[in-house]
Amino acid sequence: MKVLVINAGSSSLKYQLLDTNTQEVLAKGLCERIGIDGKFTYKAPGKEAIDAKDVAMPTHSEAIQAVLDALVDPANGVVGSMQEIEAVGHRVVHGGETFASSVKIDDKVMAALEECIPLAPLHNPANITGIKACTKVMGPDVPQVAVFDTAFHQTMPPVAYTYALPYEYYEQDKVRRYGFHGTSHKYVTQRAADMLGKPIESLKLISCHLGNGSSIAAVCHGKSVDTSMGFTPLAGLPMGTRSGDLDAGILEFLMNKYGMDIKEMLNVLNKKSGVQGVSGVSSDFRDLGSAAAEGNTRAALALDMFSYGVKKYIGAYAAAMGGVDAIIFTAGVGENDAQQRMAIADRLEFMGVKMDADANNVRGKEAIISAIDSKVKVLLIPTNEELMIALDTAALA
Ligand code: ADP
Repeated sequence: MKVLVINAGSSSLKYQLLDTNTQEVLAKGLCERIGIDGKFTYKAPGKEAIDAKDVAMPTHSEAIQAVLDALVDPANGVVGSMQEIEAVGHRVVHGGETFASSVKIDDKVMAALEECIPLAPLHNPANITGIKACTKVMGPDVPQVAVFDTAFHQTMPPVAYTYALPYEYYEQDKVRRYGFHGTSHKYVTQRAADMLGKPIESLKLISCHLGNGSSIAAVCHGKSVDTSMGFTPLAGLPMGTRSGDLDAGILEFLMNKYGMDIKEMLNVLNKKSGVQGVSGVSSDFRDLGSAAAEGNTRAALALDMFSYGVKKYIGAYAAAMGGVDAIIFTAGVGENDAQQRMAIADRLEFMGVKMDADANNVRGKEAIISAIDSKVKVLLIPTNEELMIALDTAALA
């Protein structure tokens, strides 16, 4: 089945057209600066690419139309007509407690998505706009499916998702750990089971999605039982620019000292913290690696804090599951940064993790990077959230 996968942001829209039978990406690209000055990119194997500026895109509807026009273009398109696109899969950030799996979109689902807006006020409205734009441009008969970042983690038990706050904040206001990157954690843990040749129901896995945003998940017998992100994606590890966990008392101290309101404080925590904040150099691990190699001690500290943070979660989640069979590295840093992987696994021999430095010298492709006699396998698995979304969509459409 040919499935169009859409990841809509407030002023951007990423798209991929996939064939779920062959798992092939037929075309992909990005609409940016929607409502501003409209940028459009399109890439399809063997065809002429598009990288256009000043494309008229006042709303997401024109962006979707531009995508469809490119896909059906007689010279450089990849389908004969729009009718060949049988379904659309949308990445939706927050499904709250309502959605524990992907769902075919109808009026009832749309209403439930609207109800989830307070949980993700920046992201969910954009996702809803993307869905409405597809209905408008493609018509109501093309099935659309919502795939949630939070759904995979809905299997977490109360002991993992409850915050130690007055219980009514959970009961009345749904304040709890939700977790994110669920589509990625689900994809890589399924691939891990395939690579190990064992049923996922028999495995205890720790999935490390380390990118600009990072999260770790404990996946026991195929189910997420804990994860490092929380009510929002600000929690857990220090990230590119996000602080991760910190003592909430710091907020009052800094807000009083610098006269910041909560919006300004959150801007610091989301945009100016993490490895960027500590190093003062960059949020990009490549820049940090170069700076550290040149003797920048704050860049080195930021890198050390990151690997130390991941290591602590691995220890915690092995304890939570009563063991671990395999650790998975994925996303930008996890797939590309051999040094970080080595630093994270360093001194985990006591729990059966033994890396193979040569095997670890690999980037962006599936590989076993632990030593042959390592009790705990360490795997590199490039994530593929779009494929996971397309497969869920094909199954439900
Ligand atoms: P996002 O969370 O935005 O999806 P990605 O998973 O694409 O992020 O990861 C992006 C990050 O991956 C970059 O900020 C960079 O730090 C890191 N990265 C990419 N390539 C490399 C590399 N070769 N070595 C180290 N880090 C890398």
